[in-house]
Amino acid sequence: MNDRNRLKRLEGRIALVTGASRGIGAAIARRYAAEGAHVVAVARNAGKLEELDDEIARLGGSATLVPMDLKEWQSIDGLAAPLAERFGRLDILVGNAGLLGTLTPMAEIQPDEWESVFRVNVHANWRLIRATDPLLRRSDAGRVLFVTSGITRRAAPYWGVYATTKAALEKLAQTYAAEVDKTAVRVNVINPGPTRTAMRATAFPGENPDTLPHPDEIMEAFVAAAMPDFQGNGLWIAADETAQAAGPAN
Ligand code: NDP
Repeated sequence: MNDRNRLKRLEGRIALVTGASRGIGAAIARRYAAEGAHVVAVARNAGKLEELDDEIARLGGSATLVPMDLKEWQSIDGLAAPLAERFGRLDILVGNAGLLGTLTPMAEIQPDEWESVFRVNVHANWRLIRATDPLLRRSDAGRVLFVTSGITRRAAPYWGVYATTKAALEKLAQTYAAEVDKTAVRVNVINPGPTRTAMRATAFPGENPDTLPHPDEIMEAFVAAAMPDFQGNGLWIAADETAQAAGPAN
């Protein structure tokens, strides 16, 4: 990111990123902004979004901060009108925000927690599609990415609610991808792989975080799949494999 003369691959794109206050979402927001996108950054923690805004400004980028709770439908629905008025379109939507929930046997998951994790990991992403679909279709190359997990590809005890929501998210994305196939919109899911974040540390408290890539190191696939020339649709993208193929991040 030091070379400001380098070609900016998302120049002029309007990108909405959820869960942008920390971890992988903050890295997506920073990287997209550094690549020339205007980032609409969504999360609850307003202080962290302000810090992100400062970082993006230092990178020479621009952002609009939207402190909001994705569990509130009205807030999600309310995103569309200001986006339409200010930009007239949405080029990139990244549904990254997620909750892990408590790792516990299925029969012991608390009903409130089951609903809460579903609300953020699945329902909010459907509601985002519902709110932004007309704006994505107005883009010359709308790109939608939902952040999934490798957990959907194996059965792991105690990961019940998280795994179930990510499987549902993948079906949501696949179905939407099929619906927009004949348009300029492309919809894919992306698995970051094990990444050094607060969520990962909660899931694996005994793990040495230094053994994991920083979110900034796995951003190549997130950029590639958001570019207008990316034509894949309905794909399951492994971000960590793309990062390895690209070599060490700078
Ligand atoms: P973090 O827990 O570090 O960050 C989660 C983000 O989601 C935060 O920005 C948080 O912001 C936001 N969020 C949570 N609840 C809400 C809500 N109700 N409203 C708005 N925003 C919310 O997680 P990661 O960065 O690790 O994870 C990002 C994504 O990557 C998730 O979907 C996760 O499932 C996935 N993933 C992560 C992996 C990893 O190893 N880290 C591996 C595989 C997948 P705030 O609290 O400010 O609202």
